[in-house]
Amino acid sequence: MDNKKVIIAGAGHGGLVAAAHLSANGFDVTVIERFAQGTLGYDWTDMFEKDCFDFCGIELPKNANYVKVPESVFVSPNKKTKIKTEVLSPITNVNMDRSAIYDSLIGFALEKGVKFEYETKIISPIVENNRVTGIFVEKNGKKETRKADLIIDAAGAFSPVRSLLPSNLMIENEFDNTQVFETFRAFYERDMTVTPPDTDWNVYFFHLDKPGISWYECREEYCDVLIGRFNKFGEQDIKQVIDDFKNEHPELTDKIIRGGQFAFIPVRRAVGKMVADGYAAVGDSAAMTVALIGSGIANSMIAGKMLADVVIENNGKTDVKTLWKYNVRYFKEINADICSLDKLREMLCTLGTDNLNFLLNKGVVKGEDITAAIKEGGIKLGIKDLIEKATKGISDIPLLLKVMKTLNEGEKLSKIALSIPEEYDENKVKMWLSEYNC
Ligand SMILES: Cc1cc2nc3c(=O)[nH]c(=O)nc-3n(C[C@H](O)[C@H](O)[C@H](O)COP(=O)(O)OP(=O)(O)OC[C@H]3O[C@@H](n4cnc5c(N)ncnc54)[C@H](O)[C@@H]3O)c2cc1C
Repeated sequence: MDNKKVIIAGAGHGGLVAAAHLSANGFDVTVIERFAQGTLGYDWTDMFEKDCFDFCGIELPKNANYVKVPESVFVSPNKKTKIKTEVLSPITNVNMDRSAIYDSLIGFALEKGVKFEYETKIISPIVENNRVTGIFVEKNGKKETRKADLIIDAAGAFSPVRSLLPSNLMIENEFDNTQVFETFRAFYERDMTVTPPDTDWNVYFFHLDKPGISWYECREEYCDVLIGRFNKFGEQDIKQVIDDFKNEHPELTDKIIRGGQFAFIPVRRAVGKMVADGYAAVGDSAAMTVALIGSGIANSMIAGKMLADVVIENNGKTDVKTLWKYNVRYFKEINADICSLDKLREMLCTLGTDNLNFLLNKGVVKGEDITAAIKEGGIKLGIKDLIEKATKGISDIPLLLKVMKTLNEGEKLSKIALSIPEEYDENKVKMWLSEYNC
């Protein structure tokens, strides 16, 4: 491959996977990361589809801290309805320390010859004649440049590369505050003298009437709490959530033993165009999480492998026409399924607590709908189903129609995602993007 240079901007999960495979195939790959070696990730465990390791040709670490995958229960804002679902399959999901995931991905990349430059902050992209040719970085207080044939943007939701690309490259720069959860997550000490009422993974919609979710799970040694909101929140809000959870889960204490960090998760469909000449985004920087839910480890890793495959199969070409094949593959194989869930997110953001209570309490949205939305990428309520619900004493017809419209739009959006132009043609892509971003 003429030792083509690749820079991975930020040590995101998908970037590390792409780095390893490109390096193994003769590319000169360097990961540039703002944090110090050995400090990446968060001090908690994450759940993800374990098959993604297989897909990426990486062995799942045997000594990782595996935790049993619990039953999932979705709770309405007024807590009157609790819906058990089969969202998380203990067969396909694994719950693992984030540090173990990072150790594994970084170890794999090092083994394949990838170089790492830590404690180097990326400031912005370098764009020359519409091609991304490098990045500006800050190291030891000095501004420096790093040039490469391909910049793989794995710098997360607020990537300084993606967000500062010129608009003529047609790549979305900003995610708005209905598309990103601000989150707080911590493991709290568990009072072992109290028997927990349940050990389910409880997901509270619009908890305490705040747009977003909170989750609670009592584990063997601690209690896992996550707060994810579309709006900024602080210490006082965390205290309110903990106090509320304590009423229902008396084993919860105030003492944080792991985590306790604020972070961001994109919870929307992927950005429509994620490539340009010399540039490809992967992971959270391209919003590759499962919309509404925010799990993005598996999708990011799979996308990293897809991207490396496309570059390798095309003899190291890094022009937009070549990289578009990666865009197409990700859309067809993963993102199209996420679109209906994203329409549901858009609807939830406008619904308000009362309407959400109504839909869940009256059984308009049921466990199987949530399972279908998350696992199969679509809620399957048909007109017949809704009419039946309306005649079963549900009188809020405008709300039902709104739900109906959302479901139809979700299906339509999935079809638009699947109709992504196979070959890169700027005008065709522009037209398709205007539909996809509607
Ligand atoms: C609280 C929380 C819980 C989550 N739980 C789960 C879960 O259970 N399962 C799941 O699948 N997903 C989960 N996710 C989502 C998951 O973390 C991401 O979707 C996934 O990690 C993909 O993100 P990424 O690797 O692309 O980006 P990130 O994880 O954001 O990594 C980006 C990297 O780029 C670096 N970087 C950023 N800016 C710069 C800069 N200017 N200069 C240099 N380096 C930079 C960062 O330091 C970081 O190392 C969770 C996220 C959060 C916040």
